[in-house]
Amino acid sequence: MDEKENTVESLGSNPSLITLRNAEQEYGERIDLWQAGLLCSDCGNEINGRFGSTPSGDLLCWECAIDAQSDEENQLTVNTDPTKATISESHLHEKSLCDYVVNVATGCRHGCKFCYVPSTPGVSARGDMLDERAEVEDVQRDWGSYLLYRDDLPERLHTELETKDYWKHTEGGRGVVMLSSGTDCYQDRRAAQITRGCIAELAQHGRPVRILTRSPAVVRDIDLFKEYKDLITVGSSIPSLDDDLVRTMEPNAPPPSARWETLDRLRKEGVRRFVSMSPTYPTMGEDEFWNVLTFLKALDPEVIFHEPINPRGENFQMCLRAAKEAGRDALADELEKLTNHQNWIEYAIEQIDLVQRLADEIGGLQIHSWPDRELIQSTTGELRFKLNDMKDSVSPEQFGEEPVEESESQCSLVEDPKNIRSQIRS
Ligand code: SF4
Ligand SMILES: [Zn+2]
Repeated sequence: MDEKENTVESLGSNPSLITLRNAEQEYGERIDLWQAGLLCSDCGNEINGRFGSTPSGDLLCWECAIDAQSDEENQLTVNTDPTKATISESHLHEKSLCDYVVNVATGCRHGCKFCYVPSTPGVSARGDMLDERAEVEDVQRDWGSYLLYRDDLPERLHTELETKDYWKHTEGGRGVVMLSSGTDCYQDRRAAQITRGCIAELAQHGRPVRILTRSPAVVRDIDLFKEYKDLITVGSSIPSLDDDLVRTMEPNAPPPSARWETLDRLRKEGVRRFVSMSPTYPTMGEDEFWNVLTFLKALDPEVIFHEPINPRGENFQMCLRAAKEAGRDALADELEKLTNHQNWIEYAIEQIDLVQRLADEIGGLQIHSWPDRELIQSTTGELRFKLNDMKDSVSPEQFGEEPVEESESQCSLVEDPKNIRSQIRS
């Protein structure tokens, strides 16, 4: 219907969820799916509350959605996520990313080897549900092979935002909502349609949004990013421009060259953007970083977040195995060395320093390094102070009215890189 309540387009007697979401996109309006008299494609009952979808996009009432068997799609098991979660407070203000996260699914088809998400409580504590809904035997090992969608998240988020009377706003997080911390929000059509609905809800409620994705499909929502230019920033992870190296660690994700192209398209469209250069690898030397940073500069991002790879947890062992299986012996050797704590501390601090130094030489780049807490605790003296300040600093992106200054603590760590080791505890 248009503003005069005239029918603009008939969507048929019982349109699919894909058709309904496409209509929302085309007309820039939310359709109240809870009140539209839509019928479940399985049992025929009217939908007037929670709902899900079949893999082919037909609407399901909640009873049918949570009773449905999982489906297989190219070695991926898909189903509906029964969670009640909508928007959650986040500790990612410590990385100057956000105060809230919204995740459109549980699981992620990209299956990055270093991904920490399956070890977080939102996934690891839900092993029984994942086994029941998607035959997941081991949430970490099987990561990348299961995906449970939250199809009705935009509707539930709308209700939550209408009634929410408190909004967290830390110095580092600035009240920002990030999509997504636990999955790629544009990894496929179904996720992208949920994502668009969530971003529209957040922006219409005046909430700043950070979108992080490896998927070129993000360009489908350029109209929305431009409409809410002050509120939305879009970023991608580009740790290296070596597509083969990145494919070893991120087997199902689009290559970094495609991510660069995507961000370049967003640049041309005037969309605000950032880069996450994370995680970087111990085989990357000065020449490669110079090359990557020069390419990233061409994207003119507001900020480049940087973090060297961290050897903690089972995900690091998966990285090691992936490097060996791909025949990348030099990478496997260097990763193996990082399992020694002292080696990792030295490598991580040297790499943070190197990236900051090169960015300074190139000029016109805003690097925001993320030093791990354990790194800081392993250093002494001035280096420790600098790392602490670096960790506490706020990214130079502008959200809302308060002007943000460039942080002086985001800079190279020592005058002479040879002096780094003397300030590391052994
Ligand atoms: S894209 Fe992000 S959430 Fe998905 S597997 Fe990779 S690191 Fe994890
Ligand atoms: Zn039904």
